[in-house]
Amino acid sequence: MSHQFLETKVEFLKGVGPRKAELLARELNISTFADLITYYPFRYVDRSRFYTVSQINDESAYVQLRGKITGVQLLGTGHATRLSATFRDASGSIELIWFQGIKWVKDKFGADEEYVIFGKPSLFNGRYNISHPEVETWAMHSTQAADTLQPFYNTTEKLKAQGLNSRAIGKLIHMLVTSAKGRLSETLPDEILRAKNLAGSEEALTNIHFPLNPAALAKAEQRIKFEELFFIQLRLLKLKILRMQKLQGLRFPLIGELFNSFYHKYLPFELTGAQKKVLREIRADLGSGHQMNRLLQGDVGSGKTLVALMSMLIALDNGYQACLMAPTEILASQHFATISRMLSGMPVKVDLLTGSTRKVQRKLLHENLSAGDLHILIGTHALIEDTVIFSKLGMVIIDEQHRFGVEQRARMWSKSTVLPHILVMTATPIPRTLAMTLYGDLDYSVIDELPPGRKPVKTYHFFDKDIPKVFGFMKRQIAEGRQIFVVYPLIKESEKLDLKDLEEGFRIIEIEFPAPRYAVSMVHGQMKANEKEAEMQRFVRGETHIMVATTVIEVGVDVPNASVMVIENAERFGLSQLHQLRGRVGRGADASHCLLITSYKLTTDGRKRIETMVRTSDGFEIADTDLRLRGPGDLEGTQQSGIVDLKLADIIHDERIIREARELAIAILDDDPLLEKPGNYRLASHLNDMNRIKTNMGMIS
Ligand code: ADP
Ligand code: MG
Repeated sequence: MSHQFLETKVEFLKGVGPRKAELLARELNISTFADLITYYPFRYVDRSRFYTVSQINDESAYVQLRGKITGVQLLGTGHATRLSATFRDASGSIELIWFQGIKWVKDKFGADEEYVIFGKPSLFNGRYNISHPEVETWAMHSTQAADTLQPFYNTTEKLKAQGLNSRAIGKLIHMLVTSAKGRLSETLPDEILRAKNLAGSEEALTNIHFPLNPAALAKAEQRIKFEELFFIQLRLLKLKILRMQKLQGLRFPLIGELFNSFYHKYLPFELTGAQKKVLREIRADLGSGHQMNRLLQGDVGSGKTLVALMSMLIALDNGYQACLMAPTEILASQHFATISRMLSGMPVKVDLLTGSTRKVQRKLLHENLSAGDLHILIGTHALIEDTVIFSKLGMVIIDEQHRFGVEQRARMWSKSTVLPHILVMTATPIPRTLAMTLYGDLDYSVIDELPPGRKPVKTYHFFDKDIPKVFGFMKRQIAEGRQIFVVYPLIKESEKLDLKDLEEGFRIIEIEFPAPRYAVSMVHGQMKANEKEAEMQRFVRGETHIMVATTVIEVGVDVPNASVMVIENAERFGLSQLHQLRGRVGRGADASHCLLITSYKLTTDGRKRIETMVRTSDGFEIADTDLRLRGPGDLEGTQQSGIVDLKLADIIHDERIIREARELAIAILDDDPLLEKPGNYRLASHLNDMNRIKTNMGMIS
């Protein structure tokens, strides 16, 4: 019953009709009663407070005044016609102006009547005026509740032109809230309402729109935020339970010959404590009989590749194959080189499959793979193609997952009858609360420790005009035997333009660093894969001093001797991208440097980003700032998570509520995994409603 009411089209609300309904849908995405009733105010104004004309200043937002209206007159002609009136109280006077609806207001004011006006002052020709104020008689005003907070709703010019200003929207909502009384079912069990001291849903909805006082508003906000965040958690965690119950997983009980001999004989260094911890978590998953779905997060350079390799060895020890999927060819080749090198001498067959693998080679690889003679396959998207058939795939590692779409990942699962274990690795640091919300149905591991001996990268900010200093610094570094990255931004929409930037930069650098004394490489996304690879390898082998590149080098590339990262037009990069790029240096034993070059003019956000980079190298702090600057809607993955559906809650500021909501969801599902108990009836039924409305989120994230 309740959801039927909520799913009614706004068109059928009195005073809306098809035209306004279409506009509401187009402008504000409001098409049902549910959409309208959850269109919360963005601000409230205390209507119990009065100002005097003399108190108005530059900081005044909305003011409410009490006084008389005199001197009403029409000014201008034609389109420029406006109605002007003088408002006067004991402290002074201010002009009121109307550009529209003049006919309607013109003869309305009595000279002796006392009025309450409400509006936003603006400064014009050195004097304040208020255009289109709300006006009512003092007599009217004083009959209403004196202590209400008036809601303000965001609206648009097009809506206003149809009479749907904030106040009109408020009226529609008021009507809806009134007629919703008794028709909305409570979504949270009484027990939760009591335990968490939350307002009931009807009370909360009334008070979020029309709060009688700040305390009532706060209570309504708390309830609605909690509800939003709680159901996201409940849904994600329930999904996970279903997956665990329905899907059988491969059991890898053995830690065998390969893992052990690698660990004891081949591993060139001691694992960090964090790497050991994560490996224990993965081993527990693999032995559990359930499919592993784990997100592994670790800052750049924290040693995720090694964890991936050792996880793959466990699969091999248990008679299965493994694959590792990387987002770019360069990265896949590099993983292939690293892993082949680490495993050389061990009886493990590793191969590489990318878009540029030759046909003959590819055919052979396919044969070996389906015969089970190939144990570890490393590659790019090419791994997803239908022709790639494993004999027994047991483990899929996805590196730098933010580059892969959910769909692409899903295609990996279809490659074996029993789902392989999945480890998704990401270096994009996400604040924990976001991870909980984004990946709430995945298990989560984090490598929160860098291998010993890493020196933090020193970061500096230079303006374009300082470029000679930068070149001087680069020369001194090269003289000390170091290599240098110079990166230019690449923005998808204007690849050609960016390429011009890059090529011009390359020419300047070639002039500044002339052959034969210096050798300069260039790599960009529009080069053929094999040329790119060859150029990259020259740099890796130390044959060139400088690598001029676009962000193709952003993820994963490991050149320990490169100790300087110069980023041109740094203001055009996002924070997490800057952090990734900086992570390319600081991997060897030498002190490393990151030079951010920007133009002199910076936006506030641009300046914030640069300052953050200079101040800290803590990936989590950077991610947090990034989130605050950009808002969660921009982060990849948020589309599927339900975060974009949050109307009131905010994953940055409501961290405490997220934790509480998650804890409660876990406790409830622990006790009643399928929400079958009578006490959880409301939860089950609301989840059902939610799922019916939303398309399902698939098997993973
Ligand atoms: P990322 O997490 O960015 O993928 P990598 O796996 O590429 O990091 O590791 C970065 C570098 O650190 C590599 O050169 C790797 O060999 C090295 N490394 C990884 N683990 C350790 C360790 N426990 N001790 C020392 N060096 C390590
Ligand atoms: Mg890596």
